[in-house]
Amino acid sequence: MEFNTKLLHGKTVTDYPYGATVPPISQVTAFKFDTAEEQEKVFHHKAAGFAYSRVGNPTVAAFEQRMNELEGGNAAIACSSGMSAITLALLNMLCAGDEIIAGSGLYGGSIDLFEDLTKLGIKTRYVRHVNVEEIEPLINEHTRLIYGEVIGNPGLDVMDIKAVADLAHSHGLPLMTDSTTATPYIINPLKLGANIVVHSSSKYINGGGNSISGVIVDGAGFDWDFDKFKALDGYRKFGPLAYTIRLRTDIWENLGSCLSPFNAFMNIIGMETLGLRMERICSNASKLATALDQIPGIRVNYLTLPGNPYKGLVDRQFGGKGGGILTFRAGSKEKAFKILNNLQYVTKASNIGDLRTLAIHPASTLYIRSSEEQMAAAGVFDDTIRVSTGIEDATDLIEDFTRAIELADK
Ligand SMILES: *Cc1c(COP(=O)(O)O)cnc(C)c1O
Repeated sequence: MEFNTKLLHGKTVTDYPYGATVPPISQVTAFKFDTAEEQEKVFHHKAAGFAYSRVGNPTVAAFEQRMNELEGGNAAIACSSGMSAITLALLNMLCAGDEIIAGSGLYGGSIDLFEDLTKLGIKTRYVRHVNVEEIEPLINEHTRLIYGEVIGNPGLDVMDIKAVADLAHSHGLPLMTDSTTATPYIINPLKLGANIVVHSSSKYINGGGNSISGVIVDGAGFDWDFDKFKALDGYRKFGPLAYTIRLRTDIWENLGSCLSPFNAFMNIIGMETLGLRMERICSNASKLATALDQIPGIRVNYLTLPGNPYKGLVDRQFGGKGGGILTFRAGSKEKAFKILNNLQYVTKASNIGDLRTLAIHPASTLYIRSSEEQMAAAGVFDDTIRVSTGIEDATDLIEDFTRAIELADK
């Protein structure tokens, strides 16, 4: 089954009550039982069933199963936001004294989170590029995880997943990737050796910019050394499933950042068109990047532009798909602001992965808590504009940006 067919007819797209074609919204707190015996079994995970929506809900489960199938995982767990997915994915396997090696070009919220984790005794060492040459020298006896974004937002650094996974595994470490900007349309990191994939499904998965949510997908292929990964020690008997089982029955359940059934429903509706949207979004980004790159004084960063340092890797790893994010440098902050204010169709908003094309000046918004050095590492400068292309007609987008830039020069 090809990608778009799988979105509608995959094996996790099952029958729903009354022959409903999409999963109904089970907007309830708890589920009643006919007998106390049945209830006991469900609480002991000895029978399938739902008891309480923080711990399990049919609409949320339908979303998790579809995400799991799309990523080729063993289990998916939905969370209230992308940040909660990242937080829980990390806390599930790390203890005080453990270290992470991560790319410095991460999403700003992730960098802030890693800073918070230092107060719990979990330290992050950063590499400028998530590649073998830069990671290997930082691995020490405390390292427990390699973490990176498949396509950095907004720096657009690309991870060679197989090479980094092979390096991590040769040191007994798992690889966790944030695949928000790549989406399963572009790549399945688990198939290239990543062990855990996290998403902010608030973005491309939902697609309509209408719900905050996140998801963790565990490939369950990692051979945990339980003497080393102390956080999973109590789950030894589950072997490779230890990560998922601790997450589901302990960290995720107890930290309580479950996804609402309504948001899960919106995600299911959205993700059925992921392939169509991404095809259009990538094509729009490529056309817009090419057009903007021809304007004197505008410096564009987009993965498939000739001369992009990742072009070879993008061709090989992503089949030439460049994603929906491009950035360009306007020359000055003043001009960047003028361009943003001159745009007619483009929405000034801080998310990505919407139907609408969105643009923002990251330095004065998303990165206000970062140092100049952290910003530069993330590819953010005082004159940078980030664009997340939507599904409008490319000619209108090109015209809108071209006009906005011309007006800014007057
Ligand atoms: C938006 C985003 C997040 C955070 O997700 P929320 O749903 O906003 O909590 C994490 N990583 C990346 C790459 C993102 O773009």
